[in-house]
Amino acid sequence: MKIIIIKCLKDNYSYIIYNEQTLMSAVIDPSEADPIIKEIEKNNLQLKYIFNTHHHYDHVGGNSKLKEKYKCKIAGYEKDIDRIPGIDIKLKDNQKWKNELLECEILHIPGHTSGHISIYVKEINALFTGDTLFSLGCGRIFEGTYNEMFDSLKKLKKFPKATKIYCGHEYTKKNSEFCISLDPNNSKLINKINNINENIKNDNPTIPSTLSDELECNIFLRTDNLKIQNQVGINSGDPIKTFTKLRDLKDNF
Ligand code: ZN
Ligand code: FE
Repeated sequence: MKIIIIKCLKDNYSYIIYNEQTLMSAVIDPSEADPIIKEIEKNNLQLKYIFNTHHHYDHVGGNSKLKEKYKCKIAGYEKDIDRIPGIDIKLKDNQKWKNELLECEILHIPGHTSGHISIYVKEINALFTGDTLFSLGCGRIFEGTYNEMFDSLKKLKKFPKATKIYCGHEYTKKNSEFCISLDPNNSKLINKINNINENIKNDNPTIPSTLSDELECNIFLRTDNLKIQNQVGINSGDPIKTFTKLRDLKDNF
């Protein structure tokens, strides 16, 4: 099984996963149809499924055109049937779903939107996190509470450390500037920033990240760290308060 990373719109990523023998494929979060069609045709793929991590237009924008062209099935969270265009397959929290192309695990991770999910494909070690977990950041809280977002990130932290993180946007550079401003002595973060800058200079995606990198460098996953708590003025040792403070600071960064 292989992954193709596709740049869409201004800073979105869509992902095609495909089986090299059967050439069957699925796309995650097609922001727009044309760049996906281009890759499908270039690689002679057959598009069987669309997965949407959530209903925002920059993640579902290509649904209708792709469905019409390829007669593929669209899978999204069961409670977002009115918001995900063309949905056929209603995914549930904790569902393990197997089809002719792949086996995956769905988690409901609300916060950015109430119906946000992640998709884990164990065979390729890949976790698609949409706009919940970004490399060195997390999504804005639009429909949920700080607690919900915190709990959703906590669920994602439990995957194997080597898991590759494929998120919905190229926000890594800006996120890294926020992390380093509050965590200036983190040598792992400093190394990661060097890699990020190198990738950006060469016009390469900074994605995928790994969960182990994120656990060590992403400040939103490090809210139980004393230094970080002190840095944002939380003296009660409360990770959720720290998370809330960080999220607010980032919204104005
Ligand atoms: Zn979004
Ligand atoms: Fe988005």
